[in-house]
Amino acid sequence: MILEIRPYLMFDVVVIGAGPGGYTCAIRAAQLGAKTCIIEKNGMGGTCTQRGCIPTKYLHSLGDIVRRTAAAKRNGNRFSCHSRCPST
Ligand SMILES: Cc1cc2nc3c(=O)[nH]c(=O)nc-3n(C[C@H](O)[C@H](O)[C@H](O)COP(=O)(O)OP(=O)(O)OC[C@H]3O[C@@H](n4cnc5c(N)ncnc54)[C@H](O)[C@@H]3O)c2cc1C
Repeated sequence: MILEIRPYLMFDVVVIGAGPGGYTCAIRAAQLGAKTCIIEKNGMGGTCTQRGCIPTKYLHSLGDIVRRTAAAKRNGNRFSCHSRCPST
């Protein structure tokens, strides 16, 4: 089998995994002038962006809003909350 070498698929640096470790490495390599490729199988940002740090902080802050709202109602405050969801 003859393997065709395509110049546009040639890189100085190939990083596997676009989590905080991978993308910072790829950015730095590119800043230093290397032709850089990053390969990711599950979504850019890795665990932190997809299901770790950022989603858990979002859920935590939602829980905090619910807790504060319930406490305010217990203290006699009367109000209603409306959230607008994008139509599907
Ligand atoms: C629930 C949770 C909450 C967290 N909260 C925090 C926080 O508040 N603060 C904090 O500092 N840290 C937090 N972390 C830890 C943080 O997410 C990790 O320290 C960080 O993501 C590690 O980065 P990484 O690049 O080493 O690995 P990862 O982020 O896991 O990235 C590795 C990437 O490589 C990809 N990959 C692996 N093998 C292949 C392959 N063969 N081909 C292609 N792609 C591949 C994976 O899909 C993944 O996207 C949390 C983690 C979790 C699970």
